Amino acid sequence: MAFESLSEKLQGVFKNLRSKGRLTEDDVKTAMREVKRALLEADVNFKVVKTFIKSVQERAVGQDVLNGLNPGQMVIKIVKEEMEALMGSTMTEIQLRPGNEITIILMAGLQGAGKTTTCAKLAGQYKKKGKRPLLVACDVYRPAAIKQLQVNGEKVGVPVFTMGDKQNPVDIAKASVEHAQKNGNNIVILDTAGRLHIDENMMTELIEIKENVDVFQSILVVDAMTGQDAVNVAKEFNEKVGVDGIIITKMDGDTRGGAALSIRSVTGKPILYVGMGEKLEDLQQFYPDRMTSRILGMGDVLSLIEKAEQTINEEDALRMTEKMKKAEFDFNDFLDQMDQMKKMGGLSNLLSMIPGVGNKMQGLDIDDSMMDKTAAIIYSMTKEERANPKIINASRKRRIAAGAGVPIAEVNRLCKQVQNQKQMMKQMSGMFGGKGGKRGGF
Ligand code: GDP
Repeated sequence: MAFESLSEKLQGVFKNLRSKGRLTEDDVKTAMREVKRALLEADVNFKVVKTFIKSVQERAVGQDVLNGLNPGQMVIKIVKEEMEALMGSTMTEIQLRPGNEITIILMAGLQGAGKTTTCAKLAGQYKKKGKRPLLVACDVYRPAAIKQLQVNGEKVGVPVFTMGDKQNPVDIAKASVEHAQKNGNNIVILDTAGRLHIDENMMTELIEIKENVDVFQSILVVDAMTGQDAVNVAKEFNEKVGVDGIIITKMDGDTRGGAALSIRSVTGKPILYVGMGEKLEDLQQFYPDRMTSRILGMGDVLSLIEKAEQTINEEDALRMTEKMKKAEFDFNDFLDQMDQMKKMGGLSNLLSMIPGVGNKMQGLDIDDSMMDKTAAIIYSMTKEERANPKIINASRKRRIAAGAGVPIAEVNRLCKQVQNQKQMMKQMSGMFGGKGGKRGGF
């Protein structure tokens, strides 16, 4: 999970600060030395760390803070504000041309950064918002890239413009804009070619595309796992080609977080989105304040609510309410719930957004594969058993356990869990005017 180790260390420092009723200048300095070490270990750019610590320290040793009612809390508040500022303070949207005018977005980045995947993720998001995007395969050096874009384009329901791998990327870009004009596409996303390292040819090609088509936004895709290399790449791209914003991918696999904390400060360009997984829905808008809250273990309730709104549609919500009214809950509902949780990014991801849980979770072995095991048990049940848990007697339990390859105790645990959920629904159904309220098993 992103920022895991940094988060843990910072929360340790904060715990010490909170536990002290009074703070001296030396206490603050000691705490800041620990914060500095944690940031450097998270691979944050050295200069960025230096400036950050200096700003926090200057504000935190002021008499109004140290003599205030709750100095520890005040210092934490200052760290939070400075960290938000480091990542840009406010969310930045990709700029689009007004009305139906075509916006051309050039996507650049090194090979393997996640550019092609991100193009499709972004196109999918625009489509959901009612735009008419067109994906364009300008990477003619890696034939697999064209196929990959076509496959992903199909998955998100967005058309892909390609002219194979024999044409010049500039010509492809020009032709794609004409195609977009004819077909009513209002966003053109150019998936350009990456290289393993920054090289002159790649830069020249990007500049030529920009000179020949009216690119409105140039977006750089970088891989979070490459840490400070990502920051250096961004600096160079920005100086040579010019970028309007940055998308950081693979944040899901980066426990350190150095790129996200340094890139804005080093390049002066905003982080627009972060990639949180390989699936095409795993692209999140970047909110510096929410990200800071998560790093500092204060949760991110707003993102949690948004995720729920995106995942659970009205139909599902209505169906669930009806079930509650009737106090019904069976294994099919259990599967539905797990499915929704998976769509929202998995259990560990969800828990990390709840204030105070993020840090506590780190010692626990919360494993999303637990959900797979549970699903395996449910899939070993017959249709009747899933819909009517009370028929599951001892011999059925033995059969189910053998089918799923788990001990009987696991089946018992799951049956108990469903029973508890049903019990809870019975108690709640009173609130919906249902028949509930009575106690009892299945
Ligand atoms: P490109 O060479 O820059 O076009 O990179 P690709 O789009 O082909 O992506 C390279 C690899 O990174 C693929 O296996 C992607 O599935 C994976 N990838 C892309 N974005 C993410 C992300 O946000 N998280 C994770 N875990 N993997 C990602």
